[in-house]
Amino acid sequence: MSWTNYHSHYKYCDGVDEIDSHVQKALELGIKSFGFTSHSPVHFENKWSMDSKDLPTYLKEVDHAKTKYAGQIEIYKSLEIDYFPEKTGIIKAFRKDLKLDYTLGSIHFIDAFEDGKPWEIDGPQLVFEKGLQEIYGNDIQKVLRRYFEITVHMLEHDCPNILGHMDKIKMQNHNKFFFDEEATWYKDYLSQTLEVAAQAGTIVEVNTRGLYKKRASETYPGKFGLQRLKELKVPICLNSDSHHPKEIIGEYENTVLLLKELGFRELMVLKDNVWIARPFDQSGINW
Ligand SMILES: [Zn+2]
Ligand SMILES: [Zn+2]
Repeated sequence: MSWTNYHSHYKYCDGVDEIDSHVQKALELGIKSFGFTSHSPVHFENKWSMDSKDLPTYLKEVDHAKTKYAGQIEIYKSLEIDYFPEKTGIIKAFRKDLKLDYTLGSIHFIDAFEDGKPWEIDGPQLVFEKGLQEIYGNDIQKVLRRYFEITVHMLEHDCPNILGHMDKIKMQNHNKFFFDEEATWYKDYLSQTLEVAAQAGTIVEVNTRGLYKKRASETYPGKFGLQRLKELKVPICLNSDSHHPKEIIGEYENTVLLLKELGFRELMVLKDNVWIARPFDQSGINW
């Protein structure tokens, strides 16, 4: 039995430590297949994205790790790519130009403030509230509609291999402060987005970061989204979105219990460069 993780960060963006610390921890945990996804460089100044001047070194380091640890663990080279509707094609371009093994597409920004700075929706709550007020006149439903609209745009026009934390915006919704996650309109947005994901043929990640960072009470997506994924027969993979070696399989055991309860039988893994579905249980994935 083994675990996998296809969403991880280390020192080149907002993660910490050298690549070897992450790989060695993964080996200790019995992981057979592991992907690095530092935040892709973006077209504006942003403190947690990779600096474009570091990109060649990052790619070289991951390639080096592939060879160094060959026979012990499969290492895959990727990026967590920020999607902007006006930059469509960026995911495919990164994949082709940088020879990535797969792509992970995520939404962290919606539209922009008056000064042109993109609005970060999964950062500090003050920034979230500023955008909600200044860009959307405090209309939270409109914000959520836009968030899922951009996700759908990515799936339809520049589909990544993996859809990253598809409802991460809910991390701002502590104690249901901004909206009711049980509301029909919200569930409809989630549902419609996942229907497009099913059509697009992407893998949807079950992201555990909100749980072990205590920023969300559920995975991204949560129980409702997972039920829809099951009904729609969308392939899923389990990812921790680790930024530190100790987070590599954070909250995996509880999450697989829930997945089993919901009727999931398989998780997608990257084996010999091919995505395949493998059975799993509480002790791991049957490699
Ligand atoms: Zn992310
Ligand atoms: Zn991430």
